[in-house]
Amino acid sequence: MPAHPDLGPKPHLGYTQSRIERAAERRPDNAAIATLAAQPSAGAYVIGGDLIVMKKGSALNDPLFTLAEARALGAANETVFLGLLGDAARFGYGIAPAVAEALKTRDGFHVTDLRSIAVQGLVDATHLPPIAEAKAVLHWHARHRFCPNCGHATRAVQAGWKRDCAHCKAEHFPRTDPVVIMLASDGEHCLLGRSPRFVPTMWSCLAGFVEPGEAIEDAVRRETREEAGITCGRVKYLSSQPWPFPMSLMIGCHAEALTRDIVVDREELEDARWFSKTEIAAMLMRKHPEGLTTPPPVAIAHHIIRAWVEDEIDFD
Ligand SMILES: [Zn+2]
Repeated sequence: MPAHPDLGPKPHLGYTQSRIERAAERRPDNAAIATLAAQPSAGAYVIGGDLIVMKKGSALNDPLFTLAEARALGAANETVFLGLLGDAARFGYGIAPAVAEALKTRDGFHVTDLRSIAVQGLVDATHLPPIAEAKAVLHWHARHRFCPNCGHATRAVQAGWKRDCAHCKAEHFPRTDPVVIMLASDGEHCLLGRSPRFVPTMWSCLAGFVEPGEAIEDAVRRETREEAGITCGRVKYLSSQPWPFPMSLMIGCHAEALTRDIVVDREELEDARWFSKTEIAAMLMRKHPEGLTTPPPVAIAHHIIRAWVEDEIDFD
């Protein structure tokens, strides 16, 4: 039996396991949505571009506003029905980024980006999935005001889940961009890379967008070959994570490395190298002698790397 250190209970993967029932069947019914919005239990997440507005709390902040409170903060660019938490409706309320920015200096508010909120645990973790949902779909609205088919203005319908073009009758739906994020390994060692954007001590999985006409497994092999020059064989899916930066779905995989010689694509990566299981375990536990780390538990890369250390990968 290969021994690995006890890493403790598995952490929660951020933005997943939403408690919101999306209730998509309600979306076409404007009257029903208006009735839900008028209930005292209705709540809204207020988002201005990358900024999330919260009521400042002593321990945790509260990101949920009544719709009346939300309207008092600023006019909505769009309002999206996120779904139901029990009987209570939840909405995403999009305000202008400049309005959110101005709230940073107002007493009683805490306004910051979602990455900081997730990594620093600034709100109860159950709020993260609906905030991710709201942020991603509000971003889509902000970038799809005009029809890509004919150039005329579009308008939001279906409680914020579709945009229609009155001119050419085209219908536009919110999109999610698939990204593969993978750990290539040869059994004893795994391949991690560093982006120039990372903090200097952090190493993570390679990742890249799935291209049109490409299977997930092929994207994993292509990205690993392009970024690090490593040829991969079998690919195994692990799990996925919504990644609303701005609107991606991270598809977590393990890949079987067939070659060892790394050729780093310096356009994409600052560096890439092989790590042993012992070294990776130390990084996960924040005990690496050189202070090297993996991404935090909120990110899927942490879970992909941890699953490999804990011998959970079986390509057969
Ligand atoms: Zn059109």
